Amino acid sequence: MPAKADMMNDQRGMALNVVMLGPPGAGKGTQAERFARTHGLPKISTGDILREAVHAGTGLGSLARQTMDRGELVGDEVMIGIVGERLGRADTRPGFVLDGFPRTVPQAQSLDAFLPKDTLVVVEIALSEDEVLHRLASRLICTECGANAMDDRDFATCHDCGGRLVPRADDAEQVVRERLSVYHRQTAPLIDYYAGRTGYCRVDGSRFVDDVTAEIVHLVNTCQGTPSSRGV
Ligand code: AMP
Repeated sequence: MPAKADMMNDQRGMALNVVMLGPPGAGKGTQAERFARTHGLPKISTGDILREAVHAGTGLGSLARQTMDRGELVGDEVMIGIVGERLGRADTRPGFVLDGFPRTVPQAQSLDAFLPKDTLVVVEIALSEDEVLHRLASRLICTECGANAMDDRDFATCHDCGGRLVPRADDAEQVVRERLSVYHRQTAPLIDYYAGRTGYCRVDGSRFVDDVTAEIVHLVNTCQGTPSSRGV
């Protein structure tokens, strides 16, 4: 993370900084998008940043592509650099919603070095392995705007922008199994890393998407004090 962290810490005292944590397919992206939109915060999805880089054919894209297709994680140094640069931009001063970062303990430690710990709210969206496999088998992604959709013959195009919907390459069953094993090995330890903090909360991701959204809003406000004291 950049050396200007200390200066940023002062400005971030009242910010609402949210991390969505959970296995692939738990709904992190959808919930991050909704929370960010209703709270006027930028949503920062490391998966989206990497997919855009692959799409644009940049150096980062070619570095990340094969790793992503195998369901493995891109290196910590690269990811910490990307997120550090993104969190250094002015639009994150009121806060942000992170989707897909941190995914390892070193990534979480770098985030802690960048922010005052008590400004971080970590929302774990829990989902069983069977549910993950079931959901990802029918997930589609928009080739234009990156929105997620479920495979449904009534919606051959993206609900948001009309773009073409396709399955994600890394949602193939074998890759999903690898992503789940990577999740258990490298990301699930973050639950213990964060669990003792006041800003940690857990929601059941198997419920209807609107119910999960409502519970997240409620829990974040409960975790972090009243909405007005958090500037929400
Ligand atoms: P996602 O869209 O969050 O499921 O991410 C898709 C893929 O991008 C992951 O399977 C990883 O290969 C890569 N990726 C996204 N975020 C990270 C991260 N924080 N650390 C390492 N790799 C990541």
